[in-house]
Amino acid sequence: MRKKTIRDIEIDGLRILVRVDFNLPLDIDSGAISDDRRLRATLPTLRYLIARGARIILCSHLGRPKGTVVDGLRMGIVAGRLSELLGLPVGYVSDCIGPEVEAAAANLKKGEVLLLENLRFHPEEEKNDPEFARKLAGLADVYVNDAFGAAHRAHASTEAVARQLPAVAGLLMEAELSMLTECLEQPTRPFAAIVGGAKISTKIAALEQLLARADLLLTGGGIACTFLKAQGIEVGASLVEADKIDSTRNLLRIAKDTGKRILLPDDAVVARGLDQDAPSKLVDITKIEPGWMMLDIGPATIRAYERALKTCRTVLWNGPMGVFERPNYAHGTRRLAEIVAALDATTIVGGGETAAAIEEAGVSEKISHVSTGGGATLEFIEGKRLPGVDALLDREVA
Ligand code: ADP
Ligand code: MG
Repeated sequence: MRKKTIRDIEIDGLRILVRVDFNLPLDIDSGAISDDRRLRATLPTLRYLIARGARIILCSHLGRPKGTVVDGLRMGIVAGRLSELLGLPVGYVSDCIGPEVEAAAANLKKGEVLLLENLRFHPEEEKNDPEFARKLAGLADVYVNDAFGAAHRAHASTEAVARQLPAVAGLLMEAELSMLTECLEQPTRPFAAIVGGAKISTKIAALEQLLARADLLLTGGGIACTFLKAQGIEVGASLVEADKIDSTRNLLRIAKDTGKRILLPDDAVVARGLDQDAPSKLVDITKIEPGWMMLDIGPATIRAYERALKTCRTVLWNGPMGVFERPNYAHGTRRLAEIVAALDATTIVGGGETAAAIEEAGVSEKISHVSTGGGATLEFIEGKRLPGVDALLDREVA
């Protein structure tokens, strides 16, 4: 990797400020942690630092408190779960800067872990404020960024702070960057990209890049509806972004000119509405009637996608195949997850909802890499620079 990592630095006894992505999904009713995948993903970095005698100060945002204190978004609950996962006590302070925090950081012994309060309780965090960053930096000797999921944001804890301390990547950040880089730059071919999800407008730029790099593109979800419409197939009341039909047609043209295959669904589960009780049925893709919307891919599509994927050696998947949150429309995504998991290929899954679907299907362990990034993964695929990565120290090239 081009950036320095915690493997490249002395650690023993140092105070290390680690930016993690502990922005965990919380249950709307109970406020409990509903998925701790992002916590588990940082354990290798934390264990590495603990074993080498670091004094660890963790910081993260949680949710969108918009610069004020929101009790339901305090990090205490996260400290509790992290402590269970690490099998060690994890200290917690109810702010992320100020005298109480400075004292707690100063009192850390080797191998001890402290979690700071939600960074976004301070409006300065999202403003990338250098003074706020200076206060964070003042807590430590070294800065480590392990928050790949927040690396596309230039915030005080991801960008400005990295300018004020020696700054290196954590092991999760390293794994995310190297898996995605290898997949996009040097994929073992054939390389298939699977793109689904809700809105094609959020993924046009990524689709362009993937079309240039992959050998074939499989589509699903709302994305597929706009592709179908762009080919002149009527999709009834399905999610179509009319103002993106031209750019979608352009993607189809590029594919044709460059000899790439874009696979669109052959059949679909359609319904009268999103309601779980709304009547639904399976139809051929050319038979979607007015008023019906496509909410999942059908069995013929799954068979065709399985056939295409079986020959592939690299697969990158972003975006579910249907409205998988509803049991009636979860089948396509679940089957595809099982199919991808069973491939003899390097398999990478990115996107918040897609990762959740993979977890629900129970196949996470059989995927080469499940990215913790949503927006960051997409921006990386788009070829954009990630400010949180740019700010880290470069490795000297011999
Ligand atoms: P990710 O978070 O993995 O990047 P997106 O945010 O792009 O994925 O899309 C996920 C959402 O797409 C899901 O909430 C799902 O309900 C929705 N979705 C999937 N298929 C359809 C469809 N056919 N019509 C409308 N929404 C869909
Ligand atoms: Mg999403």
